Amino acid sequence: MSRVYNFSAGPSCLPEEVLAECASEMLNYHGTGQSVMEMSHRSSAFKPIIQDAENMVRHLMRVPENYTVLFLQGGASTQFACVPLNLGVRHGKAAYVNTGVWAKKAISEAKKFIDVDVVASSEDKNFSYIPHVENVSGSYDYAYICFNNTIKGTRWSHIPDTGDIPLVADISSCILSEPLDVSKFALLFAGAQKNLGPAGVTLVIVKNDVLTDTPRAQTPTMLSYKTHADENSLYNTPPCYAIYVVGKVLHWIEKNGGAEGMKARNEAKAKLFYDYLDASSFYYAPVEKSSRSLMNIPFLTKETDAEKADALNKKFVAEAASRGLVNLAGHRTVGGMRASLYNAMPIEGVQKLLSFMDEFAKTHQ
Ligand SMILES: *Cc1c(COP(=O)(O)O)cnc(C)c1O
Repeated sequence: MSRVYNFSAGPSCLPEEVLAECASEMLNYHGTGQSVMEMSHRSSAFKPIIQDAENMVRHLMRVPENYTVLFLQGGASTQFACVPLNLGVRHGKAAYVNTGVWAKKAISEAKKFIDVDVVASSEDKNFSYIPHVENVSGSYDYAYICFNNTIKGTRWSHIPDTGDIPLVADISSCILSEPLDVSKFALLFAGAQKNLGPAGVTLVIVKNDVLTDTPRAQTPTMLSYKTHADENSLYNTPPCYAIYVVGKVLHWIEKNGGAEGMKARNEAKAKLFYDYLDASSFYYAPVEKSSRSLMNIPFLTKETDAEKADALNKKFVAEAASRGLVNLAGHRTVGGMRASLYNAMPIEGVQKLLSFMDEFAKTHQ
């Protein structure tokens, strides 16, 4: 069977040449006679792999010197606890912006440990926009945003000014999709399986200042950033193979123009898609124009009868899959359809999808 175009929100498609390279090195990595999967994480063969991945993150994201780069486990969801445990130590209070499912999960996890003020929310319009947050002030240990909302398909187009309050962002579904000024943030994190590699590793970029505080009492050793920072992500066994693949994806990003190259590539794909939706008499995009994600594009049909719409969506997803266009169902909490156009999705995949959509619209108009 030939390869499909995979529009999954995560785990998601990886560049084909990266997969081919991993396959070619599977049994014998650089003459070591072993797979990277089999290597000791303390071996002289593995150390350069993790070092290179770190260097590439620093290079591609222009990470300032006074930041630490960590490769952790537990997914982005574990960061929902790590952030309040490590950063919520002076006032025991943080400001969160509620922009949908992932922000809500972060909020409810933080509430287990500290006080949370939800300083802005887009819940009033079903999270179809990013609230304008000009500045945040108050006695907060940090302010928190989810930069790209994978499920609702919104993204921040401005970085709120939080003054002296450290800003934290979940960038799981938009990391390296476009340039981002790391120096504006105290901490950034991303699960790798959206835009960076396979599931199993979470990237954390943290400003060294915020590592000087002692985490909250009873913070598990494994959830303390300091534990991992002190040991260069080798306190315990890291997700070695996932880190290796992330390194390869980062080299692929560099070869394709770095963060700027990804931005041009992603804007071209997203423009095609949104222009098509906006001109369509059959489909529409529910997200406000100024808040639209480059990565995750939810869309619905204009069918107003709920039952009919549901049947139509199911038919769309099944027929698309039979054409090799897979994972187009909307998130289970949202319905409709969603196409995730991460870095590795080629423009040909988008063109194919749009031509299928057009055909489907014509037969079901
Ligand atoms: C997928 C996702 C998460 C959860 O990631 P896990 O690695 O599965 O824990 C968190 N935040 C955002 C924005 C996501 O897209």
